Amino acid sequence: MASVTPRLSRASAAAPAADAAARVGRAPARLAAAEVVQQLDGKEIPWNLFMPKAPYQGKVVKNDVQAHTITKPNSSSPGDANWETTHVTFDHGGKVPYVEGQSIGIIAPGPDKKGETPAKIRLYSIGSSAVGDCQDSKTVSLCVKRVVEVEEEKWPLKHFNREKGEDKPDKAGTCFPDAKVYRGVCSNHICDMNVGDDVLITGPTGAEMLLPLDQESNIIMLATGTGIAPMRSYMRLLFHDKVGANADGSRKFQGLAWLFLGVPYKNSLLYVDEHDEYTKQSYSPTSSAPTTRSRGSRRTPRARGCTSRREWPSTNSGS
Ligand SMILES: Cc1cc2nc3c(=O)[nH]c(=O)nc-3n(C[C@H](O)[C@H](O)[C@H](O)COP(=O)(O)OP(=O)(O)OC[C@H]3O[C@@H](n4cnc5c(N)ncnc54)[C@H](O)[C@@H]3O)c2cc1C
Repeated sequence: MASVTPRLSRASAAAPAADAAARVGRAPARLAAAEVVQQLDGKEIPWNLFMPKAPYQGKVVKNDVQAHTITKPNSSSPGDANWETTHVTFDHGGKVPYVEGQSIGIIAPGPDKKGETPAKIRLYSIGSSAVGDCQDSKTVSLCVKRVVEVEEEKWPLKHFNREKGEDKPDKAGTCFPDAKVYRGVCSNHICDMNVGDDVLITGPTGAEMLLPLDQESNIIMLATGTGIAPMRSYMRLLFHDKVGANADGSRKFQGLAWLFLGVPYKNSLLYVDEHDEYTKQSYSPTSSAPTTRSRGSRRTPRARGCTSRREWPSTNSGS
């Protein structure tokens, strides 16, 4: 994303977590060790409120596999994409505040690559805006790709954690019993989660991809695959959330937002419905027309991939 990299300074390395939560406008909570990082312009953002040794235990409230991305070998159905992603939402009870553009860590039970339990943390870009998908500041959502590597004659696996015959169907029903398989430790843990399951969360972290504060900024977003996650979080704030609206219902954001998203197959495009909704909302006779460009076919070879370009002028812009 084209934005000014915020220059940061530690406000208080030992600030209590409850203060950190309060400073970003959330209810104070009993938290583990916390730090607050301060932007040069004075805006503070939450930072590592929960560390790997004392993670926050949240609950899964939603785990929506994006059905069109589920692997269907040799299928000619429209869902023939070779990667599965899920949109998963965790309840953090308001105790893991974050801002758009940050990441959280997830700790899977393991075993990890070298047999460690629990597994080391994996970072995931937050896909929801700060208020969360329910706009109550109590949830955080991720867009996660299931890592599955299947041995082929021309592609021997260097690492595998399922011997031939050992792979069992995952939650989506996908299974590769005839080959050695490596299933990513944390991504499979997340993709297989059910509503009500516990999840261990660390963070939040990241200050490189925060939205510019200037509401007239033009925002250019470039992403491939699940790299859409932080872009979704920005767009929820800019075009969807109540906090992104003025009292008269107009949007606070006055700039132009561009999204370039690359995926292996045209049908693998993510969050299309939401993007269509923003396109509908953003178009006004006084603004330049929204545009969408998609290249590639359903059977586009992986190397070429498919790129979708979307442009959203602010509804309020008079240009
Ligand atoms: C800032 C950040 C944001 C991210 N955001 C997202 C996101 O939004 N969505 C998303 O899906 N992912 C995201 N990721 C990637 C994510 O953190 C994980 O790396 C990813 O989910 C794979 O983790 P895993 O545990 O499933 O795979 P792992 O089990 O970690 O396997 C990863 C690779 O390690 C290889 N491997 C296995 N054993 C060994 C070994 N002994 N030695 C060497 N290599 C080995 C495997 O072949 C495999 O290719 C992000 C990463 C970062 C750093």
